[in-house]
Amino acid sequence: MTGRKPGMAWVDLSGAADGYFPEIQASVMLSPEAGAALLEGAPIGFEEARDVAEASVTASVPLGIEATLSIKTEHGQLSSPNVIGIVRGTDAELADEYVVFTAHLDHVGRGVEVDGDDIYNGMYDNALGAAIMIENARAIAASPPRRSVMFIALTAEERGLLGSDYFAHYPTVPTESIVANVNMDMPLFLFPVADLVAFGAEHSSLNAVVEAAATAEGFVLVPDPVPEEHLFRRSDQYSFVRKGIPAIYLDTSFGSTDPAIDGKAIVTEHLQKHYHQPSDDLSRPLHWDSVIRFTRANARMGWDIANNDARPTWNDGDFFGEMFAPTPQEGL
Ligand SMILES: [Zn+2]
Repeated sequence: MTGRKPGMAWVDLSGAADGYFPEIQASVMLSPEAGAALLEGAPIGFEEARDVAEASVTASVPLGIEATLSIKTEHGQLSSPNVIGIVRGTDAELADEYVVFTAHLDHVGRGVEVDGDDIYNGMYDNALGAAIMIENARAIAASPPRRSVMFIALTAEERGLLGSDYFAHYPTVPTESIVANVNMDMPLFLFPVADLVAFGAEHSSLNAVVEAAATAEGFVLVPDPVPEEHLFRRSDQYSFVRKGIPAIYLDTSFGSTDPAIDGKAIVTEHLQKHYHQPSDDLSRPLHWDSVIRFTRANARMGWDIANNDARPTWNDGDFFGEMFAPTPQEGL
């Protein structure tokens, strides 16, 4: 249903929309058949054009036909804040460095009615993540570590990571002072949870910290069971990674402490029937004991990062580190 919801972008201080290219005056989505018809008289065919696009090579060719596109757009402005709280660090020098916890506060609002309900509550996505972050803030405020810890309830994740991307572009503290991001987005507790996945752990020194925190709360850390989903790049932590900041996103996996439970089937069913649906509400199963241990593991991990002598570093030669933080962190 293309076009049902309008596109959204954040605007900079001059009012210009981020990621807007005035050169592109209109665009259109075509089926492969219509694409092939459009390219009939062109020097390259549809298949070839698709290969070129997939290889990210720019290619402009005469189509041999003339087409007219007309488009009518309406623009509006709204504002929706990120909400930030800070626990000051206890160490005079390290207190100017920050570990940033994040969880998005938005969901998709009201929409198409399903079974008489048009309110998309987003209990798992991401009211639960935001609630866990608030509990983490409470625990960390009661026993502050050496570095400062910032907690951001982020807006507009569902519209394309807008709140985190805005913060990454206009941080309220210097970017270099942010040592790590700990993100939380839709952890599922549909059954007693045994296994956790730490997205991003393999890219930086955060792996050791997360391993210790998961083990301390009785969880087993397992490799990403669905690497093809690229989850590390699909939530707010990626806005921080793109600024060169090591990030971690702790999530639950399929393994259960109850061997009779097929966790993968239950999670798959949730994603197919309840993800981004009005039924993502408190009628969904929620294994509270797992939530408590997970909340502690996440707090422990953030506290350790904020209290360790050394700030986290990207692994040598890591793809994301080389791409986004190419300057060596220690003297040349
Ligand atoms: Zn989410």
